[in-house]
Amino acid sequence: MRAYLRLVRLLRPYRGVMATSILFRVFNALATTLSLTLVQPFTRLLFTATTAGAATPRDEPIGGPLATHGLLAAPLGAWNLWLFGATPIVSFERLCAAILVLFLVKNLTDYLAVFLSVQAEQSAMRDLRGRVYAHLQQLSLRFYHGSRAGTLISRLTNDVDALRDSLASGVGDVLKDGLTLIGCLVVALSASWRLTLFAMLVVPPAGIALTVAGQKMRRRSGRAQEHMAELTTVLQENINGVRVVKAFGMERYEESRFDRANAAYRNAYVRLRGIAIALKPFAEFVTILVAVAIAWAGAREIFVHRGMPPERFFQFVTALLAMISPIKGLSEVNSKVAAGLGAADRIFGLLDTAPDIGDRPSAATLAPLAHAIRYEGVGFAYDEHEPVLHDVTFEVKRGEVVALVGASGAGKSTTLDLLARFYDPSAGRITFDGVDLREVTVASLRRQLGIVTQETILFHDTVRANVAYGLDGVPDAELEAATRAAHAHEFVARLPRGYDTVIGDRGVRLSGGERQRLAIARALLRNPPVLLLDEATSSLDTESERLVQDALERLMRQRTVLVIAHRLSTVQHANRICVFEAGRIVQQGTHAELLADAGAYRRLYDLQFRD
Ligand code: ADP
Repeated sequence: MRAYLRLVRLLRPYRGVMATSILFRVFNALATTLSLTLVQPFTRLLFTATTAGAATPRDEPIGGPLATHGLLAAPLGAWNLWLFGATPIVSFERLCAAILVLFLVKNLTDYLAVFLSVQAEQSAMRDLRGRVYAHLQQLSLRFYHGSRAGTLISRLTNDVDALRDSLASGVGDVLKDGLTLIGCLVVALSASWRLTLFAMLVVPPAGIALTVAGQKMRRRSGRAQEHMAELTTVLQENINGVRVVKAFGMERYEESRFDRANAAYRNAYVRLRGIAIALKPFAEFVTILVAVAIAWAGAREIFVHRGMPPERFFQFVTALLAMISPIKGLSEVNSKVAAGLGAADRIFGLLDTAPDIGDRPSAATLAPLAHAIRYEGVGFAYDEHEPVLHDVTFEVKRGEVVALVGASGAGKSTTLDLLARFYDPSAGRITFDGVDLREVTVASLRRQLGIVTQETILFHDTVRANVAYGLDGVPDAELEAATRAAHAHEFVARLPRGYDTVIGDRGVRLSGGERQRLAIARALLRNPPVLLLDEATSSLDTESERLVQDALERLMRQRTVLVIAHRLSTVQHANRICVFEAGRIVQQGTHAELLADAGAYRRLYDLQFRD
C-alpha cells in the first residue's frame, strides 16, 4: 500500500490533467448509462408499431408514455416527452438522433479521457526514469560491481512499463469500469430489481465455474510444455553426445530414456486436450443455462406477476450484457496492480539505495597539490571477508613518477581506484598534502585527476566531443594541439568528416592504438596535475606501440604520476617502484636499487620486463 501511494504521488504534478481525464470518464459512464435507457423506448416503439401497425394510421401518434419509475424516472420521463406523441416515423427519427448524439459523446469522452491519462502517465514515467537515471549517476562503483547491467536496464524499461500499466489500471481502469458497472446496475435495477437480484444469484457461480476451468487448462498446458521441453533436451543431448553414446554402446538405453519422455508428453497432452475440448461445449452450456434461467425468471415477471412490460425486460437484458466487459476489466486489475507493485518495489529499492561515496557536510574544496600524496596504512576489501589490500604505505611527491608493479591480482588497480575515491579504504587513509581525501569534495578531487586506463571508453559521439569530454567551449586550436601531441591528429584528419566523425560502438571503428591515443589526447586536454595511468598490456604493432609510448611520455611530463607499469622504459624512469604481492607492498625503491636486491622485483623483472 505504501508503495502504491508513492506511485500515485508520481502523478501529483499532473493532477490537473488527471482530474480532467476523470471528469471525462464520468461523462463517459453517464453517456453509456443513458444509451442503455434508450432500449426501453426503442422496443416500445417497435412493438407498438408492429402490433398496432394495421390499425394505427401512419400519421397518428403511437403508444402511450413509458412507465417512469425509480432511479431512471428522469431520463425516461425526458424520452417520454420528446419521443412519444409524435408520428411513428418522427419518433424513430428522434430516437436515431438521440442514439447518434449519445454514442458520439460516449466515444469522444472515452478518447479524451484516455488520451489525457496517457499524457499524465507518460509524464510521470518520464520523471521517474529521469530520477532513477540521476540516482544511478550518484551510486559508486561498488554498487555497479554488485549489479548486472541487464538488471539495471530492466529497472528503467520493463519495470517502469509494468508500473505504468498498474497506474493505468489502478487509477484509470478501475474508475472507468467501476462507473460503467454502476451505471449498468442502475439501469438493470430500475428495469427490475427482482430480476437483478436473481441474476446476481446465478451469474457469479457460472463465472467462477468458467474461470476455474480456464485456469485448470492453463496449468495443464504449462505441464505439457514442460514435457515437450524435456523431450527436446533428451534429443539435443543425444545429438551433441552422439560420439559418447556410440562409443559406450548406449543406443538402447538412450532409446528407453526417449520413450519415457515421449510417453510422458503424450499423456500430458491428452490430459490437456481432454479439458480443452470440453471447455467450449461446457462454456456454451453454462451460458445457455444462465440465459434460460433469466428468460424463465423474466417470463414469470411478465406473464405470472403481470407487472413488467416486455420493453423493461429488454432493458434489463441489455444492461446485463453491458456489464460483462467492465466485470472482465475489473477482474484483471488485481493482477496488473500486483505486477506493478512488484516493479515499484524494485524501482523504489534502487532509488532508496544510498550512495556510499559522497561529500561529507563539512567537505572542503581540495587545493592544488603542493607537496605529496600519501597512502598511510591503507587496507581495503571488496567484500568484508576477503581483504585485497593490507597496510599499503607509500608516498608520491609532487612531480614524481611512482610505478606500481606486481602480478595480476596483486592489488595495483585497486590502489589507484582508492585515490580516485571510486571506493574508500577500510583501514588507514590517503592524504593530499596531509588532508584526508574523505574530507574534501569528490568533484574537487576528481578535477585534479586524469585517469587513463587500458580500457579506452569512447562514447557514440564525434571525435571532438569524445576528446573534449567533460569540458565546455574548448577552442579548436587547443583541441588540435592536444590531439597532435597524442599522435592522433594524423588519423583523425584522414577520417571521413575529420573531428566531426562519429566514433564509438555504432560509429567508425578505430584500431586499439588509435583509441588509446584518443584517450591520451582527452587526458592531455584536461591537463590534470595528477595522473593515474594503467599501461596497456595488449600488444600493439610496433609502429602503433611507438606512437602510444611517445604520447604517454608527453602526457606524464610535468605531472605527478601513479602508473601501473608494464613497460621497461617506464620502470627505468620512475622515481620509485612499489612492488605488490598479494595486496602488500613487499619492496620499494628505484629500478637500480631493486635490481641489486635478489627479491620479488628481480623475479618480476625476469618475467615481465626483460627481453
Ligand atoms: P591488479 O590490478 O594488481 O591486477 P586488482 O587491484 O585488480 O589487481 O585486484 C586485486 C584483488 O581484488 C584481486 O584478487 C581481484 O580478484 C579482486 N577484485 C578486483 N576487483 C574486484 C571487484 N570489483 N570485486 C571483488 N573483487 C575484486
